[in-house]
Amino acid sequence: MESTLKEKDNLLEVIDLKTYYPIKGGFLRQTVGHVKAVDNVSFAIKNGETLGLVGESGCGKSTTGRTILRLLDATEGQIVFNGQDITKLKGKSLREIRKDIQMVFQDPYASLNPMQMVGNIVAEPIMNYQKKSLNSLKDEVMALLKKVGLPEDAYYKYAHEFSGGQRQRIGIARALALRPKLIIADEPVSALDVSVQSQVLNLLKELQEEFDLTFLFIAHDLSVVKHMSDRIGVMYLGNIVEIADKEHIYDEPLHPYTQALISAIPVPDPRKKSQRIVLQGDIPSPANPPQGCPFHPRCPKAMAECSLTKPTLKEVKPGHRVACHLYNNDTDKQ
Ligand code: SF4
Repeated sequence: MESTLKEKDNLLEVIDLKTYYPIKGGFLRQTVGHVKAVDNVSFAIKNGETLGLVGESGCGKSTTGRTILRLLDATEGQIVFNGQDITKLKGKSLREIRKDIQMVFQDPYASLNPMQMVGNIVAEPIMNYQKKSLNSLKDEVMALLKKVGLPEDAYYKYAHEFSGGQRQRIGIARALALRPKLIIADEPVSALDVSVQSQVLNLLKELQEEFDLTFLFIAHDLSVVKHMSDRIGVMYLGNIVEIADKEHIYDEPLHPYTQALISAIPVPDPRKKSQRIVLQGDIPSPANPPQGCPFHPRCPKAMAECSLTKPTLKEVKPGHRVACHLYNNDTDKQ
């Protein structure tokens, strides 16, 4: 692991993380293989920073978020939160950490209990951790609902009475209820109309400022990630293939996969548009990833060595790391 991940003001450090799902088969339902959903991922997020994780569906970005939240067990590697290794925490210690790491989900409706009043949905995490009088609990929930831009009477209503954007505001109020340090936002606006997406994104930015939040922001939409993030990690087939400040990712992407993603973003002025790079073929199965560079079957710049050796993620400019043989001669033999 590179020493840059050991800096003091990192809130989160993810070190060589692997999350594999067993594939069961045969008569006795034995493990016959693994889906390598997250395969050796490392990154750090500083206090108050937003790291965007971007990539196509199935690239492992959501699994990374869920493993950090400890909804899934890591197969290997370490998750260090606020200086504490939380990778294997259980019981009471895990419960304590969960106060500080909350999630905003993609589908706000599916994550909200339809049988509960909104006031109770938002109050639930507080009641799970703190003893409060009913009056002070209600005041706190009312204040949270106001903070996220919902009307006062939202407290007494049910989730189905709200629009998609308002439901996501309820989900955000609940995520904020315990005053977490880190919020993992997993595609928080992808289920919303484009017209309300920017309202919810701007709300998240305002709340970040006010509540001193750190974000891991997961999305497939590069424009959304650009709006939200300070730094961006690009994932492909369970690996981070490039990570850098957002300006470097958007203005001078180095990895051929990032270059293809960036070339597909619509721009307002077509004269400024560089030629779109259309990738051939589908993403391979993470149950059977290709030898060598995981991107080589689709890479327009693939060379002979790309199918033999896997490139490591290496710093090629200050703060800009890329896993590609075009920039990196130091490879791991597979
Ligand atoms: Fe393409 Fe080779 Fe770089 Fe992989 S290592 S992205 S195949 S050039």
